[in-house]
Amino acid sequence: MITRCTRRSAAFSLVELLSATLVLGVLSSLAVPLYTSQRKSAAGRVCKANEAAIARAAAAWVLRHGEYPAEPDDLVGAPEGLAWLPKCPLGGDYQWQIGDTGALTITCPRAAEHIGFGGTEASEWVMVLAAPRRDLLP
Ligand SMILES: [Zn+2]
Repeated sequence: MITRCTRRSAAFSLVELLSATLVLGVLSSLAVPLYTSQRKSAAGRVCKANEAAIARAAAAWVLRHGEYPAEPDDLVGAPEGLAWLPKCPLGGDYQWQIGDTGALTITCPRAAEHIGFGGTEASEWVMVLAAPRRDLLP
């Protein structure tokens, strides 16, 4: 009598591999856009926080010197300044402009890319500080 020996295959079948690939494809098509959106939203919030930190350091600088520093790099290492100058999480240095009136404008170089992720207008990533009034300074 001949007995048939059934061997169990150690490999996956083609149907099993295709099923697993399909499931992974569906999951990644859902997860990747969500991950990208959350990452951009976080970048927008961090950018606003960076601008606020720079603005606070500039305002503290005004109390000591009576005017805004000519360059944002002056804030680095100053007693009332920053340990380092933050950059936009999407890349690029913040634009620093002191107007004719003495007002300071800090602008994100990638403000247009933040729209829709933590704000609806590019102006939300522009911070304007009023000109220092010498009669109010200590
Ligand atoms: Zn930014």
